Amino acid sequence: MKPTILLSHRLAEPPHVVRIFGTNGVRGIINQSMTVDMALDISRSAATILGAGHVAVARDSRMGGEMFSRAIVSGLLSTGCSVIDIGLAPTPTLQFVVPRLGCVGGIMITASHNPGEFSGIKVMGSDGIEVSRDVEDSIENSYFGREFRVAPWDRIGTVESYDSALRQFMDAIKSHIDVQGAQKRRLTVVVDCANSVGSLVTPQLMRELGCKVFSMNGQLDGTFPGRDPEPLPENLTELSRAVVSIGADIGIAHDGDADRATFVDERGQVLWGDQSFALIASRVLARKPGSTLVTPVSSGRLIEDVAKQTGAQIVWTEVGSVVVSHKVKELGADLGGEENGGVFYPPHQPVRDGPMTAAQVVDILAAEGVSLSGLIQKLPKYASAKTKVPVPAEKRDRILGVLLQMTEGQNRITLDGIKLIYDEGWILMRPSGTEPLWRCFAEGKTQKTADKLSQQGVNLIREAAASS
Ligand code: MG
Repeated sequence: MKPTILLSHRLAEPPHVVRIFGTNGVRGIINQSMTVDMALDISRSAATILGAGHVAVARDSRMGGEMFSRAIVSGLLSTGCSVIDIGLAPTPTLQFVVPRLGCVGGIMITASHNPGEFSGIKVMGSDGIEVSRDVEDSIENSYFGREFRVAPWDRIGTVESYDSALRQFMDAIKSHIDVQGAQKRRLTVVVDCANSVGSLVTPQLMRELGCKVFSMNGQLDGTFPGRDPEPLPENLTELSRAVVSIGADIGIAHDGDADRATFVDERGQVLWGDQSFALIASRVLARKPGSTLVTPVSSGRLIEDVAKQTGAQIVWTEVGSVVVSHKVKELGADLGGEENGGVFYPPHQPVRDGPMTAAQVVDILAAEGVSLSGLIQKLPKYASAKTKVPVPAEKRDRILGVLLQMTEGQNRITLDGIKLIYDEGWILMRPSGTEPLWRCFAEGKTQKTADKLSQQGVNLIREAAASS
């Protein structure tokens, strides 16, 4: 069977532009749209652009991890790069060691939260952050032009294993936590790592923070028998039940590569990502007057409230963790975060880090001496509404221009789609990156307001589509 080439399109780019990189790395179905040949050539291209030196390689527990890893290592060696093989590890562990080992970059084999049949590749620069769009473009040019650096026979790279990464990473996280305080609180924690690499860090880390740990879906298994790797509330019903029946203080769930953490309170309620982000932000931002917080336009009022209370300044970005990481680093920001549970804590590292986020929540619970639901109850409440608006494929990208004209002069942010801001709430309208539709997110103080704003957004999109 002829393998199909993975076609992923960046947001708002015309559908004919063929890309290998999507919003966060390369993704595809194993042995179909994500093949060994692609992995080999992507690694050759990445090494060509990253330059000569060491590249660290790691993988999550997905099927095909060894297969892709060997192809990637071969590709890297052929360019003259040497490989530091980290083996199985969370993405943030790889990101943490890349700059500390003096690597020119890192390659992570993962499809993050995607279903089991997917795998993928994330390329990191020498700072451990996923490479910027410009560098992705250069890698793509090398890939499609088949312009690879080829080392002479006596300059082929070498491979060494590095087995201290997990320990080094856990020790670094603990250096930002009041370990003794956490140990005194002796929380009971249920950890659900979706049968992937979070299991190699978070259960042990929690034990070292004095927690009594119950682990579920802890054995590494690329078929993901326990649950879907995306830590959405509907995938965490067993975790919720376990937390309640054990009488645990919290539940912690990671996605497939453990760069995100979702929390369950002691009553079994799954927290929205923006709630855990807000808890961490309240603490981090209050430490320093005039702190800077970086977050995508998709984040809501809750985080704005926290910024106001703590006197922090918000810097908005486009949606996507890579953009947030680069902005956090560029500004030397104090914190970054996303509404999906991604928290970027720069004193540790400026990238999303699930185990660091979990440790921060434990640290907060220990310091406050109250339950997680008690902390959440103190946060302001908002309701949200999400709608998809199908549009004719040929009009998808033209609608933006019309919407920009229609909303001229309104209080808005136009970094990524259009966010309209009102006293009672906000509407964010963005085109889908892959499908002929627009997405409309709205948030308000009540569900009625959120629904009303959402309908207003839908009407605007339809009106713009009609006159495009
Ligand atoms: Mg992930």
